[in-house]
Amino acid sequence: MTQPSGEFPAPPLIAIDGLGAVGKTTVGQIVARRLGYRFVDTGEMYRALTWLALHRGIDVGDEPTLTRLASEARLVISTTASAEKRRVVIDGFDVTSDICSQRVDGEVSKISRVAGVRESLVSRQRAMAKEGKLVMVGRDIGTVVLPHAGLKVFLVASAEERARRRHREQRSLPESAYEQILAELKSRDAVDSTRPLSPTVPAHDARIVDTEGLTPEQVADRVLALAKEIT
Ligand code: C5P
Repeated sequence: MTQPSGEFPAPPLIAIDGLGAVGKTTVGQIVARRLGYRFVDTGEMYRALTWLALHRGIDVGDEPTLTRLASEARLVISTTASAEKRRVVIDGFDVTSDICSQRVDGEVSKISRVAGVRESLVSRQRAMAKEGKLVMVGRDIGTVVLPHAGLKVFLVASAEERARRRHREQRSLPESAYEQILAELKSRDAVDSTRPLSPTVPAHDARIVDTEGLTPEQVADRVLALAKEIT
């Protein structure tokens, strides 16, 4: 198959959204690498803030304190598309691996539905997109953060397929962990897709890409083909 490369003029901003474990990060990184673009995973920002709130013992229901935390935290996330080089640092703590813990998984949706938290992180995300040549992945990139992105993609796969992928990714887990991962994903899906603020839904002009049974490379090929089609 011909691999599309950075040679064709792709839209300067590419938004990739979708539910948990659908492959946004892996696909987004491949697309960014092939286009020579920067890459931002906004999930890392909500996760880092959740880690900091837990570290400080802040109640997930304490909206004013969470809002203040979101606006004051010194958050640095890499914009490289190289998975090995990525770093997430918040208030001086390198939380790159800790943000994927089950504890953060279990609490992040509660914190990301707080209006003040979203406002602060969305404005940081828009600032990062100013220079263009960026693939940004998340839940509300096409609908809220970058509604003018030249290409908006919404990735879909069944909860079972997403749980299988997450289970495979975390190789040290026993077979029995699958059911727990599935239950956790479904509960996060329910909160993320029905919250009143920025629910995880496709933008009206998003291209839906069904990823069931496809490898990340195959999904990235489809996204790149869409990018080429609209330029
Ligand atoms: O994508 P990821 O699973 O890392 O996101 C973790 C959580 O962060 C999501 O379950 C969602 O609650 C929140 N999130 C969000 N908006 C984004 C990205 C992530 O609300 N743009």
